Amino acid sequence: MSQVDKLTLAYKTAVARILAELERIDLTDMSRASSIAVLAEVSKILVGLNEESAAWVAENVPLAARDGVLTALTSLGIRNPEQVVRLTRLNQEMVKAVIEDTQADLLAVTQNVERRVRAAVRQVTGDALRTNMAAGINGRRTNTHDIMAGLRKKLGDSVNTGIIDASGRRWRPEVYVDMVVRTKMASAHRESTINEAVGRGAYYGRISRHGAKDACASWEGKIVKLVPDAPGPFPYIGDLPRREIFHPCCRHLVSPIRVPPTDV
Ligand SMILES: [Zn+2]
Repeated sequence: MSQVDKLTLAYKTAVARILAELERIDLTDMSRASSIAVLAEVSKILVGLNEESAAWVAENVPLAARDGVLTALTSLGIRNPEQVVRLTRLNQEMVKAVIEDTQADLLAVTQNVERRVRAAVRQVTGDALRTNMAAGINGRRTNTHDIMAGLRKKLGDSVNTGIIDASGRRWRPEVYVDMVVRTKMASAHRESTINEAVGRGAYYGRISRHGAKDACASWEGKIVKLVPDAPGPFPYIGDLPRREIFHPCCRHLVSPIRVPPTDV
């Protein structure tokens, strides 16, 4: 299992545990005390998840950066790259920033889930109480079952589609987390490659190929500048359209080269 898979499994497990907690809510006999107990349990699960994911990020972002440095060293033909690899101060600063950024993004995920679960429990509690009361008053229980099923679904949805991104798309928490960490790790990898290369006086790079089928395909093998003012008719890597290359979850890397080919 990859490191990212381990992290997303932690989110999957937490979501399953939260759903099990919500499942325990007795909609026909709802008291405030029982919903408070369930919410306390949900908070506890999320606190544990935050600790686990913060530690994961602190451990794995530096590994991605180290790997990025290795890519630079290997590509520049440095001997014994495994022994030479280290994070320069610039890369250490970058890693620190990416760690903080990623931890903040993941914290926002659990905060979002918690807020939505709380709101759903509050709303469902009210709806269930009213439904139960009305059933007692008019003696009709025919619709109660449907209503309760609807309320159950509302509780489940608050977790299962708990994340809404900037463009309004709904995500399962673990799918969103998978996308966030893959993207951040790839960017840490790329930046550490560039920093190492530029530190060694290599100002160009070639974009990797793996036979991509998406918009990245047209960038495979292309030469780019690693700093904007390097001479030559190549695009600066920082200016490439993010819709086409280095999009979320993109697996393309950049391999530094000292002298760009003249026949492109
Ligand atoms: Zn790509």
